[in-house]
Amino acid sequence: MKLKGWKEVNPGAVITEAGSALKFKTGSWRAFRPKWIEENCIQCLFCWIYCPDMAIKVKDGKRAEFDYDYCKGCGICALECPGKKGNKAIVMEEEGK
Ligand code: SF4
Ligand code: SF4
Repeated sequence: MKLKGWKEVNPGAVITEAGSALKFKTGSWRAFRPKWIEENCIQCLFCWIYCPDMAIKVKDGKRAEFDYDYCKGCGICALECPGKKGNKAIVMEEEGK
């Protein structure tokens, strides 16, 4: 059988709905979850800047709770958090603890 040249092939396309990260709740497969210790928080917002999933909310210019639907438990926020006087304001805990 002779294959068609590219000029003879009928043009076609597959159109599907555009993807949205909103639909993928990365928090559903988390093994560790960050815990916020508010009394050690100096409101530097490093955690908000570094979080790759925008899973740290800011309200009225201040850090608010985690959005656990989208937090995948990577631990970057806990690593970057300076905390107060060396006491971390974010610690990682095993999920379901
Ligand atoms: S653990 Fe990772 S995904 Fe979850 S809030 Fe911290 S930086 Fe964001
Ligand atoms: S990085 Fe730590 S100290 Fe800074 S806002 Fe986030 S929780 Fe608070």
